Formats: sequence, structure tokens, C-alpha cells
Amino acid sequence: MVIQAYTVYAQSINELENKPDISYTIHLNTINNNISLNIHCYFDSDTSNYTDICFFPQPNWNQHQYLVKAIHSDTPSVHIEQFPNSLFWRVYHPPNSRVHIRYDITHDSTAFNQENMHQPLPVIFNDNYFLIENASMLTIPVSWLEDEANILKQRKIRIDWRTDSSWQYANSFGMNIKRQIISVSARDLLRSMTIGSRNQKKCTISTFTISPRQSLQIAISGAFIPQYELFANTIKHIVQSSILFWQDTTRFNYIATVIPVEMAQEDVENGVIGFSIANAFVAMMSEKRNNMNFSCKYLFAHEMLHKWINGECFPLQDFSGFGYCAAEGFTDYVARYILLQNGSITKAEYLRDMNIQIESYLQSPFKNIIADSVKKNFWNSLQIMRVPYRRGDILAHIWASEIRKHTKGKHDFATALRDIMQQHSGTAIIDQIFAKSLEPYIGRNVIDDILKYMKNGETIPIPSDMIPFARVIKAQGSADIPQFELLPESK
Ligand SMILES: [Zn+2]
Repeated sequence: MVIQAYTVYAQSINELENKPDISYTIHLNTINNNISLNIHCYFDSDTSNYTDICFFPQPNWNQHQYLVKAIHSDTPSVHIEQFPNSLFWRVYHPPNSRVHIRYDITHDSTAFNQENMHQPLPVIFNDNYFLIENASMLTIPVSWLEDEANILKQRKIRIDWRTDSSWQYANSFGMNIKRQIISVSARDLLRSMTIGSRNQKKCTISTFTISPRQSLQIAISGAFIPQYELFANTIKHIVQSSILFWQDTTRFNYIATVIPVEMAQEDVENGVIGFSIANAFVAMMSEKRNNMNFSCKYLFAHEMLHKWINGECFPLQDFSGFGYCAAEGFTDYVARYILLQNGSITKAEYLRDMNIQIESYLQSPFKNIIADSVKKNFWNSLQIMRVPYRRGDILAHIWASEIRKHTKGKHDFATALRDIMQQHSGTAIIDQIFAKSLEPYIGRNVIDDILKYMKNGETIPIPSDMIPFARVIKAQGSADIPQFELLPESK
């Protein structure tokens, strides 16, 4: 799953000596075994006598309303009014003054497990641990969101954590200290993630250096602490292989979080759910899990890969449905490709999963759903949500096989995709651009495939040679679901 893409640049405090544009002081309180964050926000007003402030209204509007208690001020000269049914407030204040407001963020963690876990990034609080998207936590002046230039303008933010010393924090600005001074755009601030925990036995946060400009923070909590080494090593291996594959040398800090949740017995083995925002992912797995099987590695790789393949490079509004199929299905393809290359999974595991995906695709009652309907119902049905993943994944396999033939083995779909994304770095890749860019690798224009299968929902025929180390043992017929087995020489 991908929520949004962004990049955050944490800068050293030296670069930011002058006054912050806004600062937050966060006090942690524990109420009924749940954490509440009491947040004090300070900013300098201009010559006007009011400032409109808000929580970023997208994408988790409902979640915000659920979390945020009314905003107050203790300063007599400051008066606050909320716009009806919104997360916008007007703060009246003397011109050119320092304005102080405060509010609480609370969340009932017991309600969390009963909610739809496939909805966008969950907010989790308990008495030892919290995980929160900053969009749900930090209010900002509305003027910061006025236009593209304001949204992307770098702002200086200060966050002070006022808690006892048993607490540790990490966020996707690459900071894990009590006073965090950050240079960040409004967009990136509100789509970042913060993790806080106390009690090392219940949650462990560690930082690893990947390269001088790249770091990884891993937070593992609850029932998984005894398996910390195993989980952390798996994540590190996947992160390192992904960076290597993308030849990425840019500065970034990544946070990976693993949380145990209660799951039905039948979901213990394969029930893993992941959420990602480009510099962070959250994986939720059964608290009974004590191994790293295919499902876990695949989920970690998929979520990590959203750092590079996401709704920002492949806009989801593409009318052909290409955006969803690319952002999710291409990610699935590359996840398996990287895991096989780095030795995390075997060819047999690869095939076992592909057979399941193909079967689920062909048997889905929504197999022929049109792109428009996928877009409308994406968050309403897990079965509909899976359709673009499988369309993108299966087409990637088919194109990969053609690409290997056309380039005489020099390229695969994964390497062609990487090249295309590097050529279009920083710009959105829509269906037409993608099809044109893929032409030199594949020797034809795939726009017809995109329109036929991704947009109009025709059933994708499964070719017998779509996996290089496998052969098909059952052809696709009216009643048959094709299945792949390892070629004898690949065993
Ligand atoms: Zn995804």
C-alpha cells in the first residue's frame, strides 16, 4: 500500500541557527494506559490580527477529527474560533506578537484493532509506545498550504519533547533527540512519521548507518522483542539491497516499524499488513509470529520499495488505472525480483507466490472491473484493492519476458523500470509516457495492453513463458488455472 511520497531533508542544527517559523513543545501524559500528547504550539504573528491554522486536511480527515481535542490558548489576548465541522481554526491575536496555543492528541488504542487495518496509516498509542503520522499531530498556518510554492517552501520547525528520560523518539526527519530542529516543507512535515517509546523491553528503536548520507531506524515492539535481531537483520538486508538496486546516493533517513497485532489463527502464518509513506513503513503481523517467512520479507520489500515506486511518480488519477497498477503491481514485481537476487527467497518460494497471485487474480469476482470502479472503491473492499496489484504484477512479468528477449538478456522489467524512472526523475510518469519510454526495451508500444487490461479490465492471458526459470503445468483454459513449476535445470 502506498499513502504518499515525499522526501525529508534533516539538516544539522548549525544550518538553522535562526529562529524557527513554528515550534512545538510536546508533553506526554498517560491516561487509562493510553498516551496523550499535550502539544503547545508557538509562532510569531505578522501585522494582521488573526492567523488561520489547520491540520492538513488530507488524506486522513476522519482520523484527525477523531484525534484532536479543541485548541485553546492560555493567553488572555488570544481568542480562538473553530470553523464549523472542520479542522480549521481562526486565532485572533495582537499583531506582531508571539502566539501560543495548545491542544491534545488522544487515541484509544483498544479501538484500533477493531477498525479496518487496511485504511491509511494507523495511529497507535499505548502506555509504552506511540506511532503517529505528523499530519495527525502538528497544526500549521493555513498560509503554508496556499499554493505550490508555499507548500514546498522550506520552513524551520522546532520540536521539544518534554518527558522523562526513559523515552526515546525517532522521526522521518532523521532526528532522535529531545530537541529536534528541522528544515522541512509543509508537505513533508505533514506526511512524515514519529515514533516514541519507553521501556526498552517493550519497544526497541535503533539507528543504523547505511552510508554517510543514509540511515535506517528500526523500531520493533511488543511480543517481537525477543526476535529483534532476526527482524532487524532482515529489514537491513532488504533496505541495503533496495538502495543498491536503485543506485540511490541521495540523503535520506528511513524508519521501519514492526508492531504485533492480534490476528485470527488462520492469519498467523501469512497475515501481514503494511503501510508506507516514502521514508517510513509500518508492518503489523501476528504477535505469535517468531520467524521471517516469505510473507514478511515480501511485505518489508514491497513497503520499502514505495520509497522509489509510488503514487507521486505514477499519479493515481491516471484515467487508465495505470497509476494504481504501476504503484502497487510494479512494486510487487520488483519486490520479488530483489528478494530473489539478494538470496532472501528461493525460486520455489517465488513460484509458490506467483501461483497464488495468478489463481487469486483469475478467480476474483472483480477480475474484470474497470479502472474507474477500482479508483472509486479502492478503500472499500480488500478484494477490489488487490486487483490493480495483480494486473500490474502479471503484466510486469509478461513484459519482462519480452524485454529479456528483445534486449538479449541485457534488461529485465525491473532494470528497464529503474532506467525509465531515472530518466523521468522528479516528474510524474503517466501511461503514455511510460509506454513510449518502455518501447526501446520491449520493441513495441504497450499502451494497448494498458488500455485493454488495466483500464477496460479484460482478463490478462497468462503466457507459459512468463517466468524465466519456470514452465507452466496447466494451460489457462475455461476451467483451469495455470500453475508454474521450476524448470528441471533451475532446481
Ligand atoms: Zn503498496
